[in-house]
Amino acid sequence: MEHHQLKPESLMMSFGYKPELSEGSIKCPIFQTSTFVFQTAQEGKSFFELAYGLREKEENESPGLIYSRLNNPDLEILENRLTLWDKAEDCAVFESGMSAISTVLLKFLKPGDLLLYSNPVYGGTSHFIKDILTGFGIDVLPFSATDTKENILERLKQSGKAQNLAMIYIETPANPTNSLIDISMCRAIADHYSNTEKHILLSVDNTYMGPIWQHPLAHGADLVLYSATKYIGGHSDVIAGACLGSHSLIAQVKEMRTFLGNMAGPWTGWLLMRSLETLKVRMTTQNRNAERVAAFLQDHPKVEQIYFLGSIADPRQQEIYNKQCNSSGAMVSFDIKGGETEAFAFLDNLKLIKLAVSLGGTESLAEHPATMTHAGVPPEGRMAHGISDQLVRLSIGVENSEDLIWDIGQALEKVTVTTEVKDSINVSLIQV
Ligand SMILES: *Cc1c(COP(=O)(O)O)cnc(C)c1O
Repeated sequence: MEHHQLKPESLMMSFGYKPELSEGSIKCPIFQTSTFVFQTAQEGKSFFELAYGLREKEENESPGLIYSRLNNPDLEILENRLTLWDKAEDCAVFESGMSAISTVLLKFLKPGDLLLYSNPVYGGTSHFIKDILTGFGIDVLPFSATDTKENILERLKQSGKAQNLAMIYIETPANPTNSLIDISMCRAIADHYSNTEKHILLSVDNTYMGPIWQHPLAHGADLVLYSATKYIGGHSDVIAGACLGSHSLIAQVKEMRTFLGNMAGPWTGWLLMRSLETLKVRMTTQNRNAERVAAFLQDHPKVEQIYFLGSIADPRQQEIYNKQCNSSGAMVSFDIKGGETEAFAFLDNLKLIKLAVSLGGTESLAEHPATMTHAGVPPEGRMAHGISDQLVRLSIGVENSEDLIWDIGQALEKVTVTTEVKDSINVSLIQV
């Protein structure tokens, strides 16, 4: 018989859940419980043997439920569903994106190791790398989207610590300018320093594009990280995170998670399962809307430049895009003509789009990176990464695209109102 492989969006409503174990309930209930009852003492013993790695798992044996810091049905089913999009072997979910990221960095780095990372990364990640990891004696070395493989290898060599390289950590596309880092180039750099004893890990924060528009594991990443607060949660009502990879790496991540105790709770697990049912339709609509908004901004007289993956100017960046992205996403940044005053006037005049940080949710959001999400970046660094006072970042949601364009259009019109009013006063005075 012909085997038909169901697509992830078809499996999000049912995968991994057995209604007969929950009174026939079509939806997975919230298992709001701290602990689980063993049927016999022997069963409890056997569950613990597996949990502590005292024996190998038997064929078809799945770990028994013990205590909700170790495992819980809402988390396990959610993790199984999340693996489908990225074709990962396993997944661990966390109570925030930062806890997923910090747990991975703490698990796989030790004093004396070198971490190579792309710059800029998410503000929280940047702080964790520069201020917390270095405090544990871990060396860190940044590179940027404009660096070539040769540049980076040379920089590693000059650091004198290349032999200590343990992990490459990247975020692509970079926030807020959408510049891309080549994932397979990073794999090649990691392989260059790997040998039979040591495999250099490549970790990719795929929050901006995942889990639908970019699949880092397919391009050589070992670990994929998410702030599930963004597209995965998608409704701006939950903070959560996830890490995906091979069975063996995720087993190590879960071990660290057990002892840091930063797993997601059952309620978060349930909310994210609910969100995953509409992930594909949400992200597809968000991208279609973003394409339309970007086209509108592209030709607008008050817009100097837009930063959108659907209209990349640099051929090298376009090449990376063609290789590793399958959609232009839903993040549109642009330089408004003028500076902070004009950017603020635009933001303050939006009616439908909300002025807030975060991204990936059903509602469109707008913010000013230089004074908000990236206020912690020193001014020289901000300019080097194109985070000027003119820059506005939009996260496009699922609203009607004509309404979004109307809102952006009317807010842009208001930007020059003060100047226009002055002009028109002058004009009328002259006319008088
Ligand atoms: C939001 C975000 C994070 C942090 O996630 P939290 O869920 O807020 O902890 C990490 N990386 C990226 C790219 C993000 O956008």
